[in-house]
Amino acid sequence: MGATPGLGLVVGGLSRPERAVVEAMTGAADLAALRELAAEVGLDRSAADCLTDLLLSAGAVVDGDRLGPAHPRRQPDRSSAALLTRAPDGGDAALATRAGSRVDVHGAGRVGAQIARLLAAAGVGTVAVLDAGPVRPADVSPGGHPPDAVGAPRRRSLGPLLQADAGHVATAGRRPSGPGLAVLAPTGGTGREEAAELVRQGIPHLFAQVVEVTGVVGPLVLPGRSSCLRCQDLHRTGRDPHWPLVLDQALRRPPPEPACDTALSAVVAGLAATQVLAHLDGFTPATVDGTMEVTLPSGLPRRRSWTRHPRCGCGWAAHDDEAAQWEM
Ligand SMILES: [Zn+2]
Repeated sequence: MGATPGLGLVVGGLSRPERAVVEAMTGAADLAALRELAAEVGLDRSAADCLTDLLLSAGAVVDGDRLGPAHPRRQPDRSSAALLTRAPDGGDAALATRAGSRVDVHGAGRVGAQIARLLAAAGVGTVAVLDAGPVRPADVSPGGHPPDAVGAPRRRSLGPLLQADAGHVATAGRRPSGPGLAVLAPTGGTGREEAAELVRQGIPHLFAQVVEVTGVVGPLVLPGRSSCLRCQDLHRTGRDPHWPLVLDQALRRPPPEPACDTALSAVVAGLAATQVLAHLDGFTPATVDGTMEVTLPSGLPRRRSWTRHPRCGCGWAAHDDEAAQWEM
């Protein structure tokens, strides 16, 4: 059972009749039918219950009676969540958590717009776009702003698209007042000021951007618990004292037509969305204390590790003992 790493499961020691019962667990037969089958092949009826319990506890099957209604478009996402969580609820709890979550997307250019739409389609109940700038021709992409939105405020351009991506499903229950996570996809500048503010507010945030021919996703900052963008800048400055100058130049003299390959922007958006969803689903994504970088033309992703910097101070409030250690 299972064909990919981490999901393979070998059920050994089954007799031929027991195997017949397991093979009948295709979703077409309920427990009563499985008990009938067990009796037909010469087993005790309770053998169907034993085998079902065994496979449920291993996360190899889901309990159809416990599955709630899901938007038909979201069925594959629910099945994916079920494989990740191995919960017998078939991924319902993970999707409910997403539906009750809010993600703020700061910057909705070519990259940010695609991230926002992916998150809405994946079931995040509230995706707030914090970008009142106008849609530029350069922002248009198949998964982001449509061509006829050029000139309109980015936020307004995405409003109806996000609703359509979400399948027009209203989030059940109270809408969250604050974001569970923010995505920083700057359309100008370096995003450092927004990142510092999010650290101050204690809001987890993910950085995603295309810089020249490299797509960068991360770090995903858990304020006080993992390294932040400033930690990364301090590490870079330690290796290259000119790094602050490079950042300053990027801020003051951006290229008139910044590079942002269409396909690379989609890769960055897809990777960023996986990181956000993993966080919302309760996992630790690869971009915590790290970045994922994809450079053209190879397109091969690599992960770089970034530890917290002793002089950053982003974790001092939460870990006074560690701060004291660092000061030594
Ligand atoms: Zn830091």
